[in-house]
Amino acid sequence: GITRCTSGNGEMDSTLRKIVAKLQCRVCMQYMTPPIAMCQRGHSICNTCRQKVKQCPTCRQRFSRYRCQLLENIAQKIKYPCKYYKEGCEYVSAAKRIQSHETRCRHRPVTCPFSVVSKNVCWRGHVSGMLDHVSRKHKLLVAEPVLGKCILTLDCVGPCPSYVALSALDATFFVVCTVANMDLYCCILHAGPEEKASCYDYSVTIRKRDGS
Ligand SMILES: [Zn+2]
Ligand SMILES: [Zn+2]
Ligand SMILES: [Zn+2]
Ligand SMILES: [Zn+2]
Repeated sequence: GITRCTSGNGEMDSTLRKIVAKLQCRVCMQYMTPPIAMCQRGHSICNTCRQKVKQCPTCRQRFSRYRCQLLENIAQKIKYPCKYYKEGCEYVSAAKRIQSHETRCRHRPVTCPFSVVSKNVCWRGHVSGMLDHVSRKHKLLVAEPVLGKCILTLDCVGPCPSYVALSALDATFFVVCTVANMDLYCCILHAGPEEKASCYDYSVTIRKRDGS
């Protein structure tokens, strides 16, 4: 039969990671893609950071008018691992696509949306653990839709923002309402894959306390 040589793969992986690490800009830690500039001593820097500095951040030498051909060649051929590989992501791709993946990667750590209300990061981790945190630390409402619609009533009067997590229609929503300088701010967030967000619609109705 065929068995997978896991130890061999592991070595390959670590060699590849060392090469990929060389392609990380030492200023911003993003992967460098051509054009890759270098200083007169050969320290490389990504093009974005190069535009912001006059001399090499590592050794203070001036920049060379030559580009770092060796790294540029490697950068064009290599497939980069997603930076959340330790979290379990197996996605690899060319440098120019990896960053847009990483902003959407489902393995990326997320922050509890109510961190803005509690003014510190109350929780950060994989998205699968967020509901558990919210139900223990915040208010989580489970609502049954009526005719496909969930109605949520929030009292927005007071110095503190009103906020609640709503579990309904097979999704979780975060609702924050606050009044500041006579203006009402209302924020509704869908927690889940971006492409599913367009499946939902919402409307906001403002009423006085007496119901009028
Ligand atoms: Zn950089
Ligand atoms: Zn240098
Ligand atoms: Zn990923
Ligand atoms: Zn929280």
